[in-house]
Amino acid sequence: MESKIPVGISACLLGEEVRHNGGHKRDAYINGTLAQYFELQSFCPEVGIGMGVPREPIRLVAFDDRVRAVGVRDPEFDVTDDLRGYFAAEAGKVAGLSGYILKRASPSCGMERVKVYNQAGMPHPVGSGIFAAELMRHFPLLPVEEEGRLGDPRLRENFIQRVLVYHRWRQIRGEEFNVAVLTGFHARLKLTLMSHNQEQMRELGVLAASARADNLEQVADRYIAGVMATMKTIASRKNHVNVLQHIQGYLKKRLDAEDKAELVEVIDQYRRGELPLIVPVTLLKHHFRRAPNEYIQQSWYCDPYPQALKLRNLL
Ligand code: SF4
Repeated sequence: MESKIPVGISACLLGEEVRHNGGHKRDAYINGTLAQYFELQSFCPEVGIGMGVPREPIRLVAFDDRVRAVGVRDPEFDVTDDLRGYFAAEAGKVAGLSGYILKRASPSCGMERVKVYNQAGMPHPVGSGIFAAELMRHFPLLPVEEEGRLGDPRLRENFIQRVLVYHRWRQIRGEEFNVAVLTGFHARLKLTLMSHNQEQMRELGVLAASARADNLEQVADRYIAGVMATMKTIASRKNHVNVLQHIQGYLKKRLDAEDKAELVEVIDQYRRGELPLIVPVTLLKHHFRRAPNEYIQQSWYCDPYPQALKLRNLL
């Protein structure tokens, strides 16, 4: 990675003392590890609408079919429209981001399962924070995740993978874009897509191949929408095995019997859950250093993100 990737974040997760009680929710992994690769741009919707610190806490309440963000003590204190207005004012900045990390359970920032209270005061975990809902509605392709879910190795890997892919896409869209750039992007992403959903990978390949000068914009919009939707599905161990075996096929005539047997065994150990994904991938990379193959080496599958993140050590 040549430069840090711009990613939005709920300000309290960076350690900013912006919570209603004057505290913060600094997240060690985000600040210690992700901050080395992500340029974290903070947003606090509640401070942004002038609520101040400390302030009256708010919560989501269902009024008939409408969900509003209102004061916990004073339900007449309704900041729903202000929070939407804050999003609208910041949308230009959000358009320059390649991902967003939200604070879980917040009536402003929570991505999902935020408590929505009924008129009897009973909570149901069915909502999204007002700002978060606007964010996801206006930027449906933007990779979004909550800090709590980043503790799960599979969700963490999936989010970072999506951020990198979306960032690369934004980069090529900002440069001279043509049919060859689109098909080149797909060629590099193909094996990654295969690890998420083989059928979708094929369909996206057909779509990319249908691009011509006169339909490029429509194809590109449909293509990236399909890519980001496909990548939301967590890549399964079974699909990774398929990809590893597919890559192994490119070494068929290049390995001696002993190296072949070792590779087959390592992939099988990964399939059985006895080794993490990093082991067969590292062995494959070792063989391709000795027997280079342009398609495999240009593919993002073997090197999707900085190794120091150690994301595949736990998959
Ligand atoms: S959850 Fe969102 S609104 Fe609440 S303090 Fe954090 S950044 Fe501000």
